[in-house]
Amino acid sequence: GDLGAEQEGLIIAHYGRQVDVESLAGEQAGKIHRCYMRANIDTLVTGDKVVWRPGPDNDGVVVARLKRNNDLVRPDTRGQLKPVAANIDYIVIVFAPEPYAHANLIDRYIVAAENTGIEPVLLLNKTDLLNEDNTPRLIEMAERYQEIGYKVLTASTKDHDGLDLLKSLLDDNVSVFVGQSGVGKSSLVNALMPGINIKVGELSEQTRKGMHTTTTAMLFHLSDGGDLIDSPGIREFGLWHMEERDVAEGFREFDGLLGGCKFRDCRHRQEPGCALRDALEEGQISPERMESYHRIVESLNEL
Ligand code: GDP
Ligand code: ZN
Repeated sequence: GDLGAEQEGLIIAHYGRQVDVESLAGEQAGKIHRCYMRANIDTLVTGDKVVWRPGPDNDGVVVARLKRNNDLVRPDTRGQLKPVAANIDYIVIVFAPEPYAHANLIDRYIVAAENTGIEPVLLLNKTDLLNEDNTPRLIEMAERYQEIGYKVLTASTKDHDGLDLLKSLLDDNVSVFVGQSGVGKSSLVNALMPGINIKVGELSEQTRKGMHTTTTAMLFHLSDGGDLIDSPGIREFGLWHMEERDVAEGFREFDGLLGGCKFRDCRHRQEPGCALRDALEEGQISPERMESYHRIVESLNEL
């Protein structure tokens, strides 16, 4: 069929060589077209901005991809890192009193986020479950992250605590929620989108292994502004292999210290002249974060 004029669009879901493009301007704004992409485009992922031409039947063709600010990657079945979502402003790391919040796991998400260049924000969910046993430890954790320079928000989807502050953070931005299973990510998504307005369904993809259901990352517009990109894969973001050097660079408070060790191959343990250990002794690095660093490095070969 005849194609309309070139315009800008936003990828809200991707399925192999096909994508769902949302019109960004004109009378078509907000309309979704299932499009093919021109052969010269290597990959498109959810969150990509594109130039495209609408077709007559809610279809169309993507002719170019605009430059990405950043992307989230994930290993494919061969272990190659592949982008799964692009142009993200915040990685919201959700934790809760239950399941038990392991600082080490949160640090792993932070390191992965730091390596993408996307700002991590911490969200303590299920504040209704705070009690005299778990509160001191969680407050201490929250303060530790704030001291390093991270924003820490609190919320409860059960008694609607903190949701307004969370909404104002998400407004005008593109965010993803990550974190351990059970911390309340789905509940948060539902709370932020009452009467959920899912525009595309799940992808059923025929693979060589037979019928296999994969869920593509999808972009949702939140009712009070801002976008959320979500998929089971994105929720697990950060739990795969990293290099030792990426880990060190993911600890913000190590900035400017890493070049200061006496030995170039310093492991920051018992070596003399270790800048990180000096900073630890002077209280510039917390013992918990230092321990976390070592645990993540030790686990590198296990993942
Ligand atoms: P996800 O695995 O991170 O997506 O977590 P879910 O949203 O599925 O929530 C896991 C469990 O925690 C469910 O039983 C929810 O009802 C419960 N939950 C979610 N948010 C809250 C909350 O703010 N307070 C309490 N007490 N429970 C919550
Ligand atoms: Zn060192």
